[in-house]
Amino acid sequence: MDAILVVNAGSSSIKFQIFGMEGGAPRRLIKGQLDGIGTRPRLSAESDKSSLIERTYASDEIADVPAAIATVASWLRETQQLTLLAVGHRVVHGGPKYDRPVVLDQAVAANLEQYVSLAPLHQPNNLAPIRTLFKSRPELLQVACFDTAFHHGHSAVADHYAIPERFYAEGVRRYGFHGLSYEYVAQRLREVAPAVAAGRVIVAHLGSGASMCALANGRSVESTMGFTALDGIPMGTRPGQIDAGVLLYLLTEKGMTPTAVQDLLYRESGLKGLSGISNDMRDLQSSSDPRARLAVDYFVYRVGLNAGMLTAALGGLDAFVFTAGIGENSPTIRARIAEKLAWLGVVLDPAANTERKSLISRPESRVVLLVVPTDEELMIAQHTLALLTKEPARKVAGERLAT
Ligand code: AMP
Repeated sequence: MDAILVVNAGSSSIKFQIFGMEGGAPRRLIKGQLDGIGTRPRLSAESDKSSLIERTYASDEIADVPAAIATVASWLRETQQLTLLAVGHRVVHGGPKYDRPVVLDQAVAANLEQYVSLAPLHQPNNLAPIRTLFKSRPELLQVACFDTAFHHGHSAVADHYAIPERFYAEGVRRYGFHGLSYEYVAQRLREVAPAVAAGRVIVAHLGSGASMCALANGRSVESTMGFTALDGIPMGTRPGQIDAGVLLYLLTEKGMTPTAVQDLLYRESGLKGLSGISNDMRDLQSSSDPRARLAVDYFVYRVGLNAGMLTAALGGLDAFVFTAGIGENSPTIRARIAEKLAWLGVVLDPAANTERKSLISRPESRVVLLVVPTDEELMIAQHTLALLTKEPARKVAGERLAT
């Protein structure tokens, strides 16, 4: 069967999905991951909720991301009857240049290397499987889908920091992230609530990474995230908005190294840092520790504050959409956030909220509340399929074959 492989590579894991083509649209067939790269590598995959493989490896058998993608590729080749037509990669940073997905060749990959300094923890891992597949499967069409691209149309005031312009010119901009998630949700809204989709909408992507996006007629006009995926609302282990003066204090007064500050901001802050207990919202909700309560209160408070900011960017609000792990699964957090939005005329329907309905506001609510599950991988598969069926894309793949 003709298939598309979607790859989302991090520092210690590769998540992958296989999509078949059905009536010209991608349909998910396999979902898997290889985690514990370099420590306790473990390959698992499932199809229709039944397990296809659960296998562990010695740490030196799969020591890095290239070894991991090679292992995934050979497992697929040996066990699945698939003709791989293309691979779609999640790439966190498209920099100032890429405002849409792009077919990868050596020149594009080299260009994307430039943005490693803008996303040092993510970009190198995103690019590693691309390089590996260039070598092992040069005929394969590869597509990069960016977390930044959906936010590309932001106005100059949304896109700038108030620092000298030369920094903007070299790429210090408010990019925004989670773009594939917002693009998918915007697409779903057009299907399930077209009137809402044409209006002023805030989408809250509340997962272990979390951000919020203001959509006007389906287009991103503002985001809580900026230059990196650290800014905005608090996350599992990242702080969200923080006064730059705190970082100066840590570096100068506390003598912390830049690496130690980076570690603090990416791994030790957010819900984990505030609670001292866990980065997982479920653990905090079930804990009676006052620090867990503070972390949850802080999360809800900051989502509410940022909703006010994004409403100002939109000049009003027609709908508020919850998505990602916390947004899709926690009626309690949704209810608490809805309470914070009461001043906007939000009226939650408590029964619909706990019954996991899609529409969770009362008819009299001035703002429609919705839960829309996100699907970044499907978005990548759609983009990859679209480029696969375009003639210029085939040409690029053909040219690469010839070199
Ligand atoms: P994601 O990054 O979108 O996969 O979201 C992962 C996060 O969602 C986890 O860290 C949990 O904190 C959160 N989560 C998942 N299920 C629930 C739930 N039922 N209640 C509260 N939080 C949840």
